[in-house]
Amino acid sequence: MTQWTGKRAVLVGPDRPLEIHEVTEREPGPGEVLVHVTHGGVCGTDVHLWRGEMPLPNPIVLGHEGVAVIEAFGTGVSTDSAGEAVAVGDRVYWQPVVPCQRCYACTVLGDVSMCENAFAGVFKDAAGPTAASYCEYATLDAGLPFYRVPDDTPSDAVIALGCALPTMLQGLERLGGIRPGHSVVVQGCGPVGLAAAWLAHLSGAAPLIVIGAPQRRLEMALRFGATDTLDMTELPDPAARAGRVREITGGHGADVVIEAAGVLPAFSEGLNLVARAGRYLIVGLWSAPGTVAIEPRLINNLNLQIIGTALAQPRHLHQAVQLVQTHHAHFPLAEAVTHRYRIEDSQRALEAVARLETVKAVIGPA
Ligand SMILES: [Zn+2]
Ligand SMILES: [Zn+2]
Repeated sequence: MTQWTGKRAVLVGPDRPLEIHEVTEREPGPGEVLVHVTHGGVCGTDVHLWRGEMPLPNPIVLGHEGVAVIEAFGTGVSTDSAGEAVAVGDRVYWQPVVPCQRCYACTVLGDVSMCENAFAGVFKDAAGPTAASYCEYATLDAGLPFYRVPDDTPSDAVIALGCALPTMLQGLERLGGIRPGHSVVVQGCGPVGLAAAWLAHLSGAAPLIVIGAPQRRLEMALRFGATDTLDMTELPDPAARAGRVREITGGHGADVVIEAAGVLPAFSEGLNLVARAGRYLIVGLWSAPGTVAIEPRLINNLNLQIIGTALAQPRHLHQAVQLVQTHHAHFPLAEAVTHRYRIEDSQRALEAVARLETVKAVIGPA
């Protein structure tokens, strides 16, 4: 009988250094898949969790986006969640979110991104089988959506935009899409902002303005299709940035503004960047509790729409893999993975992401 013993990075409490535990995995049960994780994506949300900005019911293994190699199947699994045959040695992409199919959102709304029990998989006991990705070995739960990574598609390119790409794909769907020639502003240039810029570019947006910092990420945004960037360190005044957006958009403001900054002041600023009859998509404020002052009559008087979006549905994970397969040769996806850490160094990875040193950090074997 094969033994799978591996390390995992455990978050034991707010602001405490991650602990490295060694665990021997059990054989995968019915419907489960045991995988060897090669790419545990580090997401800004992990930093918020580490800092205690979201309540943690118990110690957890971090990591909610991954690419891994299949080691073993439980009974009853021969395909990925799209019905494609999978074998030991194949690579898969997943998030540890399992729609329960037994709640109002799953079965009545038909929107599993709103599943009331979706985080049961994320908040699992850190000592048992887990589908979290800061692990050497992970166990994908029965019913957990996972998709085979095509042989011609690099793992780095798939993890580069991590959970951000499926999240933005759902966002664009909820927004109602972007038409060729729409002017778009993206606030933020982390993985969510880059995913937003890339999808807006693929949709034909022009001009496509990305607001953010540091310069390294803005340069990456240009390579993902942005036509203009506004560096917040050079233009620290929101009124000056709004002025630049007006200039670039012929005085109108943007048909679509996408908030991917994750900080509260972005909301009031973004509302002032939207053109008449424009739309404002809120993606990044998920883990930014608090209030800000806005002028609500703008929404009224300018026929604005404000659309929220959280998380993703399984189809968006599948769509993300397909998009990466089609376009990875033409966009710097794999290059966006700028930092790589061993599991033992997961703490350093979180700190580097917190300091915005990375474009994308990944945990796993070199
Ligand atoms: Zn994430
Ligand atoms: Zn549910």
